[in-house]
Amino acid sequence: MNKINILELSPIDLIKKRYNYDTKYQRDVAWAKKNWSLLIDSLMNDYFIPPILIANNEVIDGKQRILAIEKFINGEFKWKNVVDETSKEKYFSDFNDNEKAIFNLSTLKIFDLGKINEEKVIETFIRINNGSIKLNKAEMKLAEALPENRVFIKEITKNENIKLLTNGKKNDSRFKNEDLIIRCLSILFINQTNTKDVRNYSNRILKESLPEELEKLKIKVNETIDLMYSILKNTTIPIKSFNTIFEAIFIAFYKNLGHKKSLIENEEIIRFQIYTSIEEIIGGQMGGGIKFDSMDYISERIRKIEEIIKPFIKDLKRSYNYDDRIWAWNNLPHKCAECDLVFSNLNECQMDHIKPWIKGGKTERSNLQLLCPTCNIKKSDKFQKLN
Ligand SMILES: [Zn+2]
Repeated sequence: MNKINILELSPIDLIKKRYNYDTKYQRDVAWAKKNWSLLIDSLMNDYFIPPILIANNEVIDGKQRILAIEKFINGEFKWKNVVDETSKEKYFSDFNDNEKAIFNLSTLKIFDLGKINEEKVIETFIRINNGSIKLNKAEMKLAEALPENRVFIKEITKNENIKLLTNGKKNDSRFKNEDLIIRCLSILFINQTNTKDVRNYSNRILKESLPEELEKLKIKVNETIDLMYSILKNTTIPIKSFNTIFEAIFIAFYKNLGHKKSLIENEEIIRFQIYTSIEEIIGGQMGGGIKFDSMDYISERIRKIEEIIKPFIKDLKRSYNYDDRIWAWNNLPHKCAECDLVFSNLNECQMDHIKPWIKGGKTERSNLQLLCPTCNIKKSDKFQKLN
């Protein structure tokens, strides 16, 4: 069989495709209006909708789903919100801005088999209707997930940077990025369970509320993905170890989001070190098995990534921050602690560790004094030479 082309289309984009659904394979059983309304309800409340199957630009399976959307957009029936019993039935034209946005952001999956001969089409049609097309693992996880968790995963995978990060990978199975994120979340939260088997935990994590508030989690996960792309860019991680490396980097970066700035400043060296350590990080193992799914091994891989980024995080603690500068200006004499040069504003002076950082002096306000740039250079030269 040809390679299946998987599309994810909004309802309106699906209609624009104008797939031919008046084909002889179609069951002519008309759906009741109630079923049309339910299809719209699944879109609006983000319930699982089976993929539409296309071959030779004709609909093999999904005519009623397409019809329902067409008729709804044309104002031929009303949607009843099943989740909210107090709501009134609504035509598409009655939608408020929020409802329009939800409708436009919803998607349907299309499996396009491309050009195949008629015999194959008929056989495919028969097999689908025998229920022989099975959902893959990630589709199962999402189908069984709490609605808010399903929406959460879908929103995360809309992040452009995760698409860029996984772009180089062969596109041979469905829902790869969804699975990747489910896996990362499982590692993140597995400490709060009493299992160490990430694969097992990832099968049930979405069935219950996640242990963190979704809006906050969404911000942090997106920030982590963005940080990953800032540092990894288009580095090609070998396909075989891609997920293993991806999840370890994800967790290491997630834990160190507070040091984002200094990590990005050192992106080149970090990228180089991660790339050249891949073999070591995955422990020379390829191809799955217990070493990939047990938390003991996963923690070890995360630790190796943290080893790589640690030196760049230390540097951050070396400097006084903005708040310290303001504090110093408000609390210390406005003159150089070495040469007594008087400062008229904050930009003329520099923050100095009284006991040098290089000698173990801490970045604390009690160890802070103001120096003029000349004295600061003199002092740092002196200690650099001693080292
Ligand atoms: Zn001075």
